[in-house]
Amino acid sequence: MTLSGAAIRRKQTSSLDPHDTAATGPALLLEWYDRHRRALPWRPLSGERADPYRVWLSEIMLQQTGVKTVGPYFEKFLARWPDVDALGRASLDDVLRMWAGLGYYSRARNLHACAVTVLRDHDGAFPDTEQGLRALPGIGPYTAAAIAAIAFGRRTMPVDGNIERVVSRLFAVEEPLPQAKPLIQRLATTLLAATGIGTSRAGDAESRAGDSAQALMDLGSSICTPKKPACALCPLNGDCMSRARGDQETYPRKAAKKTGALRRGAAFVVTRGDELLVRTRPEKGMLGGMTEVPTSHWLDAQDDKTALKQAPILKGIARWHRKAGVVTHVFTHFPLQLTVYTATVDARARAPEGMRWVPVSTLKDEALPNLMRKVIAHGFGE
Ligand code: SF4
Repeated sequence: MTLSGAAIRRKQTSSLDPHDTAATGPALLLEWYDRHRRALPWRPLSGERADPYRVWLSEIMLQQTGVKTVGPYFEKFLARWPDVDALGRASLDDVLRMWAGLGYYSRARNLHACAVTVLRDHDGAFPDTEQGLRALPGIGPYTAAAIAAIAFGRRTMPVDGNIERVVSRLFAVEEPLPQAKPLIQRLATTLLAATGIGTSRAGDAESRAGDSAQALMDLGSSICTPKKPACALCPLNGDCMSRARGDQETYPRKAAKKTGALRRGAAFVVTRGDELLVRTRPEKGMLGGMTEVPTSHWLDAQDDKTALKQAPILKGIARWHRKAGVVTHVFTHFPLQLTVYTATVDARARAPEGMRWVPVSTLKDEALPNLMRKVIAHGFGE
């Protein structure tokens, strides 16, 4: 096992050792999980085998989104498409509409593509290995490991942000993220239930690997929280290196963050009676396939005048009204600031090529990303 230089020095001067944790940690973790596991809509009852479709659906939704937000979306999807066959036969438009508001829309397109692939190439059954799962659209290393462990009992440890925090504290990992990821992955794997541990409640010898992973996820979200971890309640507190030093909250170490430069642009809210002018974004790229009002390009250091020159050309617009204030939105790689312009055209005005009129009353049925909801609300003066 490779530890950072500082960790190696500590190991040499400390009685705490990853191997001590490996000896007792997995069993302590499972005992704790059996008493304190969170009830979540996608989790089966204790001792029951998880449904791969539910595990997959929840894991895709939980990427970059919290449990509280995902819950209602998960229930809605399950009610409409109860299994992968049903989802694989749905239209992409319907899936995008149902997804609207959850953000990171490439996930919805991949979700649909994955269901189609499972139906077409695997007779509607998810592959039961990490390798097989990773070949599917939208399933990366973490999601493949999570599904393989939770749904199929494979001995693998998916490492999410919660698990990263617990493990980096437990072993006092000095290397900053993201470089520390491979080390944290190796250390996390030592917390998997060894064959035979805790197997009496759930079938075969490997079946509790998923419980080990979910135990760490739960521990990270309820006990080993980013601020003020409740170490007195933690089943691993006897082996925790950072707790022994009293500097738990300083882990995980993080490299200084580079945020993208602010981009600026304009959005155009054009109404014709009770209709709004919209278009569909290209399938590929950011917010792919989603509905939006026309906008200028989003560029660093773009001034208002340049952005306004990119307004859609419609008959009957004498001038654009600039709304006071701006709409801001933070994407993963850059913050965006949009100035909103409004205009009203008469009933005969035709939509420019590639755009369409939609009744304002049916906007809720459009796949509108949160950014566009904010823009439209701002344009309507809400
Ligand atoms: S003892 Fe505290 S810091 Fe260590 S793993 Fe448990 S909750 Fe986290």
